[in-house]
Amino acid sequence: MRELKEELKDTVKGLVVFDNDIEQQYLTDFVGSRIGYAQAYVRVADEEDIQNTLKIAYAHKTPVVIRGAGTNLVGSTIPEGGIVLDVSLLNKILELDEENLTLTVEPGVKLREIYEFVEAKGYMYAPDPAEKEASIGGNVATNAGGMRAVKYGVTRDFVQELDLIKINGEKVHLGANTRKNATGLSLHKLVAGSEGTLGVISKIVLKLLPKPEFTLSSILAFHSLADGIKTVNQIFAANLDPTAIEFVEKKVIALGEQFLHQEFPIPEAAAYLIVTLDGDKKTVYERQKSLEDLTINHGLAFASLSLEDKEVASKVWTIRGALARAVKASGIWEPVDTVVPLNKIADFVEYIDVLSQETSVRIIAFGHAGDGNVHLCVLKDDIDIEKWPEVLREVLHKLYKKVYELGGLLSAEHGIGKSKREFFLENTCPLERDLMLGVKKAFDEFNLLNPHDGYAL
Ligand SMILES: Cc1cc2nc3c(=O)[nH]c(=O)nc-3n(C[C@H](O)[C@H](O)[C@H](O)COP(=O)(O)OP(=O)(O)OC[C@H]3O[C@@H](n4cnc5c(N)ncnc54)[C@H](O)[C@@H]3O)c2cc1C
Repeated sequence: MRELKEELKDTVKGLVVFDNDIEQQYLTDFVGSRIGYAQAYVRVADEEDIQNTLKIAYAHKTPVVIRGAGTNLVGSTIPEGGIVLDVSLLNKILELDEENLTLTVEPGVKLREIYEFVEAKGYMYAPDPAEKEASIGGNVATNAGGMRAVKYGVTRDFVQELDLIKINGEKVHLGANTRKNATGLSLHKLVAGSEGTLGVISKIVLKLLPKPEFTLSSILAFHSLADGIKTVNQIFAANLDPTAIEFVEKKVIALGEQFLHQEFPIPEAAAYLIVTLDGDKKTVYERQKSLEDLTINHGLAFASLSLEDKEVASKVWTIRGALARAVKASGIWEPVDTVVPLNKIADFVEYIDVLSQETSVRIIAFGHAGDGNVHLCVLKDDIDIEKWPEVLREVLHKLYKKVYELGGLLSAEHGIGKSKREFFLENTCPLERDLMLGVKKAFDEFNLLNPHDGYAL
């Protein structure tokens, strides 16, 4: 058999780089604390390049790590040898089907580009993960969630069809151009959230919705995060049909303010909820009034601000959107993406404070309160770098133990990747994992695709 590198060089039309010539940015994730190594980096030029690269990898039994925009937070694009297969140049919007309300895209299209395209035509692509530079292929592979999940659901709910290239290079079309599908197993839904372990997604048909007539957000200010979290249940009980309910502590906002040199409104609060409503204008205003009445007059918020002023709204969303980058800029950190039942959010958030005091490790919280998705950042601060891995492990061990006790899971939307694998194995029933491994084997019998990730290996 010819040498792997030689075959790649001769066959692939796109960029092929080997060993130490591979730029470090393609050997890591967004967190950037670990850099992997690979024999080859392949930036494919088209679908045929994906097929040929996989055929070569399959013949040589060489592992492949698939890479979109590399914004994941769980180490899933950190290779441990083998090939990095980058699909970012497959970035065309292929078709808007206005009769069936779908959009067909290549996997490298950025989320931002999808919003710009569909909104200009009066449609909405509903999933709303905060990182708009992520690729849609990465979003599908991680079943990305985001803010509007409360009302509309997550990426998987909007994947109608997709093309998958299997490890042996074969292309299979999954799903159909239909709104209902009870025809066998929903393999396209299974691929969504499989973290690149089942194949390379090379084309996606997404469902669209008509763009809501009007959207309005409000900030609610609280003296404590616990007060804010308790208010979430009141908002649901009042049937206000929120599009998004985000929560964030002032200490996290302060990092965003310092990072961007901008000020967030109502600075005296300890925590905030940002509540978004959408629909027809009249209903949105009625609901916004009910929200204010409920939370200020009968609830726990001490102040509120409707974000009608475009400049203030833009400042608020810019600071909210920059929080992960602000935390990253402040030093070494570990992102956590837990999800607990709605009625356990307050218990979990209280526990975080206890854990932080008990371990003397700073843990800050922000996230999607409307669906129980509590994002945490565990910060190294001035803990000795030698001791940090063990300290972090201990904190995460306790934290995930609590999450599972409360009936939650270790990831809502970021996936398991490499960083959460140990804790996934610790907390998942072996029988459930065996079923996952059976599925993996049916798609990738030699465990070559993202082999060290998630449930695999
Ligand atoms: C500031 C910030 C905010 C974020 N906010 C959110 C949020 O609100 N909600 C959320 O869900 N996530 C969020 N994320 C995480 C991240 O953006 C998502 O996980 C995103 O889906 C990753 O997309 P990507 O293109 O960067 O994929 P990558 O990071 O390149 O890859 C992610 C995974 O998908 C696989 N993959 C990528 N492309 C393909 C493909 N074509 N076929 C098969 N597998 C593939 C990779 O192998 C890997 O396992 C955030 C990240 C940052 C940095």
